[in-house]
Amino acid sequence: MPEDGSAAYILAEKIAAKGPITLSEYMSVANAAYYAAKDPLGEEGDFITAPEISQMFGELVGIWLSDLWLRKGRPDHVHYVELGPGRGTLASDALRTMERFDYNPDIHFVETSPVLKAKQAALHSGAVWHDDITDLPTNGPLMVVANEFFDALPIEQFAVTAQGLQRQLVGREHGKFVSVTDTQTDGDRVSQATGGLPPGAILETSPASGALLEQLSGQIAKQGGVILIIDYGYDRPGTGSTLQAVKSHKSISPFDSPGTSDLTAHVNFHSLANIARTRLLSVHGPVDQGQWLKALGIDQRMAKLAQNSPDKAEAVRTAHRRLTNVDEMGRLFRVMAACAMDWPDPEGFGSGKG
Ligand code: SAH
Repeated sequence: MPEDGSAAYILAEKIAAKGPITLSEYMSVANAAYYAAKDPLGEEGDFITAPEISQMFGELVGIWLSDLWLRKGRPDHVHYVELGPGRGTLASDALRTMERFDYNPDIHFVETSPVLKAKQAALHSGAVWHDDITDLPTNGPLMVVANEFFDALPIEQFAVTAQGLQRQLVGREHGKFVSVTDTQTDGDRVSQATGGLPPGAILETSPASGALLEQLSGQIAKQGGVILIIDYGYDRPGTGSTLQAVKSHKSISPFDSPGTSDLTAHVNFHSLANIARTRLLSVHGPVDQGQWLKALGIDQRMAKLAQNSPDKAEAVRTAHRRLTNVDEMGRLFRVMAACAMDWPDPEGFGSGKG
């Protein structure tokens, strides 16, 4: 048995008690333990994110939010809401930039990790923290930012089999966690239709992401504002498992050590866009992160920073390349915005309104 009280122990106990569990349950127990235990960001951690690579990222998010707010006519009671703010770096860079436009929204962070909450509090003493999105303010526009948040939310997988579509569960064999196919055949859980896909194909859904975006979109439609989602993911429905685990910047099996590695899945932007549309938001993108950052002026910002601090010029150029190059974060990362209908079209998406 794994160590007492660890995520692996809790998961093994659950499986011993009631048999294989859903992938969503596995992922949420593992990730809650993982994020509660440590700050995983940075070169010395498990992975690095765009705001940790360069201040340019948060600054451009700040300019983007300011532009939208200014063109909407500077509404009052605006709330900056960040989902999973990590170390609070993106918020710092964005809010500092917004201040230059006299745009000083209230700050709301949706965060579950005590370790990261403490880091955020050190930078943002006036922020209000929320464990989830159920108690966000109801009295003004919400400007919601989610960078590398949706990829951490639990997913479900379904396999195409000769019997139809079957849910993949997590069980235990020989002291290890393994993926097992649910053999129950009640109508809700297994579909006979396989859409002509070959046996073995895997389909993913993220009910948790869908429910969260549906609720937020409803609130934005009513109160005004926007949600900006930046993450790695795909624009068209596809097949194949995207579940992955990362530890010390290396990819490991998602079933090896739950709770001590970062479990993520690619974000299905196609599905998120549809959900926002059904809640009457106007959807923009998704577009490549590189394209979006360039449209907002990252080249000019890089030149300015390099000119102001010649000793840092090389580092700034390297960061620019990491954020925008198609071989690095520039293409795999997608940017999508969903706005209240009576708000202006946001910058950076060309004519990509959907
Ligand atoms: N946005 C930050 C951090 C990304 S890591 C950045 O770009 O650097 C994912 C973040 O989401 C962490 O802050 C983590 O604690 C938080 N998180 C993960 N699952 C969560 C959940 N279910 N509810 C709230 N926050 C969550």
